[in-house]
Amino acid sequence: MHKITIAIDGYSSTGKSTVAKQLADWLAYVYVDTGAMYRAVTLFAMQNNMVAEGKVHTSKLIAALPNIQLEFRKKGADTAEIHLNGENVEKDIRHLSVSEYVSPVATISEVRRKLVEQQKKMGEGKGVVMDGRDIGTVVFPNAELKIFMTASAQQRAERRYKELLAHGDTVTYQEVLENVQERDHIDTTREDSPLRKAEDAIEIDNSDMNLEDQFHTILQLAKDRIAGRV
Ligand code: C5P
Repeated sequence: MHKITIAIDGYSSTGKSTVAKQLADWLAYVYVDTGAMYRAVTLFAMQNNMVAEGKVHTSKLIAALPNIQLEFRKKGADTAEIHLNGENVEKDIRHLSVSEYVSPVATISEVRRKLVEQQKKMGEGKGVVMDGRDIGTVVFPNAELKIFMTASAQQRAERRYKELLAHGDTVTYQEVLENVQERDHIDTTREDSPLRKAEDAIEIDNSDMNLEDQFHTILQLAKDRIAGRV
């Protein structure tokens, strides 16, 4: 069957990865979580003393980029976990400490260039659902389906807060809300590839939508494009 590229962009914690995974499963497409790649680079910087007091040592990190190898390895039939230089870091990259440094790291053009190149290769054969901030605008500007997801900052913080608690993190709702707002600000105002809705993207505000409705809405959009109805 005709394969397409699906780009899902949007603000932090809008549930992009949940719906992207559901779609990829249903369509038997590859799912790529590009946020995990920026998070893994950030973890590398943290492990190698390249961050301190809210600041990233940019030149050190740029010089170390050739030493960073990222790979998604399959776990079971339909999950893939990110590996940093051969080590599974899927859990470590989700901590709030990584979230606090990831947006500054993602402003560095050299980091973006390296990751975007890898992302383009992963999507070469189509049949991919990729989520992030610049997928519809920079990585796959010709994607057949582009979704831009939004929800209120409070709703998003509430969801992320619950997730972190469920994983045993000791954080407050206020800390999570501040992180979400800070990342929105950095992601939308950075010079290189800022988060913005591509002109041809379909905006979905899921503040008051349940997961099932959201999935079926986007699945229908994908089916229409696969069938060439749009
Ligand atoms: O998607 P997630 O919230 O895990 O992404 C973490 C951070 O990585 C974002 O806040 C953003 O700063 C950065 N990012 C990016 N471009 C992408 C994906 C993520 O700049 N394509």
